[in-house]
Amino acid sequence: MLTDECPFIIDATLKGGSFRKKTVIPTQRMNKKKWYRGKWRVNAEVASLVIEAVHAVTKRGIEIREEGKDYEFFSYHPAAFWAEEKAALEAQVALILSLFPEAKVDCQWEEFFEENWQENWRKYFRPRRISSKLIVLPAWEKYKPEKGEIALFIEPATAFGTGTHETTRLCLKAMEIFFPLEHPQSLLDVGTGTGILAIYGAKLGIKEIVAVDIDPLAIEAAQKNCQLNKVKNIKLIKGSITKGIGSFDWVVANLETKIILPIAELLTSCACKTLILSGILTKEIEEVKAKIRRCCREVFSEGEWACLVF
Ligand code: SAM
Repeated sequence: MLTDECPFIIDATLKGGSFRKKTVIPTQRMNKKKWYRGKWRVNAEVASLVIEAVHAVTKRGIEIREEGKDYEFFSYHPAAFWAEEKAALEAQVALILSLFPEAKVDCQWEEFFEENWQENWRKYFRPRRISSKLIVLPAWEKYKPEKGEIALFIEPATAFGTGTHETTRLCLKAMEIFFPLEHPQSLLDVGTGTGILAIYGAKLGIKEIVAVDIDPLAIEAAQKNCQLNKVKNIKLIKGSITKGIGSFDWVVANLETKIILPIAELLTSCACKTLILSGILTKEIEEVKAKIRRCCREVFSEGEWACLVF
């Protein structure tokens, strides 16, 4: 797998892309790393295939700019890997086009230096109101919450979970709606990313919280975000859900269906009261319901994404 150091990840439809350390690439400009950005325009018919292919080749985040009849998204490539990745992507695109000859797949490449990219990223991560009670803000924003309002400050670093993605927002909303009905005392957050759901749980008033993630960089980011939000009751563990992890009033997991299904029994058995699952495409709802042997109490959805409460 190619590895690289990248200053950020924007929540993208394809989740779980993460960045790793790499050797610094010498560039023409002092101390500024050179990257290539692929500006892709593809039609909806093949969008998920192309995005999947880009993600498989780069293992980096993808910035979705437009979804609809056509999709526009950006892929990012360190200069040192660009030629190799471009060739691999061209082969993948040729394969997709051989299966879908009518499809439109266009990619324009542009060179840029990291400094500009960082600027752009800050431009796109903006405060986001999730509900009348909850607002999620970038770590660098100044904001004084109103009485009764909760403000979560997030420094995403390389982790997923800024509240800009539907799957996170749906989970936050489910937690907000179910909290006053159940007043859970404990929470397990599986795949915590930036820690956003665990931190929201703590802000709602849940006393005992465990958050796990297989990505060490996510755990690092979550740690920083706990400090940023002055939350002290979250135990962070690098790893996944295990049999011995214990039982919790609530279990929340914003993962993909293909990750949820093999651990469905474990997720269910750890949840004493309520299991909140997100990262599920609406077309996958029945498959997930069939695997969780509990009554589905609520389905929240936004676009193609669903969050199920069992
Ligand atoms: N909880 C955050 C949110 O709602 O925005 C982040 C969710 S992100 C979509 C999924 C996270 O799950 C990633 O940080 C990924 O590293 C982690 N992950 C993937 N598979 C996992 C597994 N089997 N166990 C624990 N964490 C996992």
